[in-house]
Amino acid sequence: MKRAAVPLLSLVLGALLLGAGHRSATASSTTDAATIHESDAGSIDGALGTAGPVRPGGDREAVKRKLHDEEGGTYIDEILLERDSSLARWPDRDSPLAVWIRPRSNIAGFDTAYVDRVKSAFRAWDDVDLPIHFRFVTDSARADVHVTWIDHFKDPISGRTRWTRDEDWNITNADIVLAVHHRGGEQLDPDAMRAMAMHEIGHLLGLDHTTDSSSIMAPVVRVRELSSEDRATAQLLYSLPAGPLR
Ligand SMILES: [Zn+2]
Repeated sequence: MKRAAVPLLSLVLGALLLGAGHRSATASSTTDAATIHESDAGSIDGALGTAGPVRPGGDREAVKRKLHDEEGGTYIDEILLERDSSLARWPDRDSPLAVWIRPRSNIAGFDTAYVDRVKSAFRAWDDVDLPIHFRFVTDSARADVHVTWIDHFKDPISGRTRWTRDEDWNITNADIVLAVHHRGGEQLDPDAMRAMAMHEIGHLLGLDHTTDSSSIMAPVVRVRELSSEDRATAQLLYSLPAGPLR
């Protein structure tokens, strides 16, 4: 029977809080910015009530063995916990994903340096050895990924990623919205914007949060670069097929 190819939407919300007055909400640390990220990817949980048979060519046991052998140094186990033992990712592709970043904005305080910082964030992921690469386009209609701006979110977040997947758990398109201001009114500096963008691009790729605070995918991010765990997790994800492992 033909199944309806209804796109399934995942919504991921992120917040980047620059501690007001450099005050750290988590006590001892007096480090720079904290990125607090909330995830709401619940819309995919249970969306596929029928996990279905092993896909043609698929071998779940082989995938589980590979996971067991190679998960060291990654947080893929945390992603599987959050995603109900399923992995979503972009399918391998020969051509880079076309990324459009809104080049300007009327938002008060918008810094044109944000655009280059967000491009730099994409390039940081592009340098990871994945079968997914990015290129920047000027025509939004031709883009697979759109990055746009908002003054601030009503929730205490500073970034939001929405992606859509098909019934085979392949991500098919994605959009990122980045806030120029925190909810409290403080403006993001360009380096914080780059970090926020790297976190959201991680979600775009199919990653989820880790408790490892040294990684860009931590709910509270205190780093400004990808960690070896970020890279290794993405590389492992992209060496596995998308879909449920149950
Ligand atoms: Zn997040």
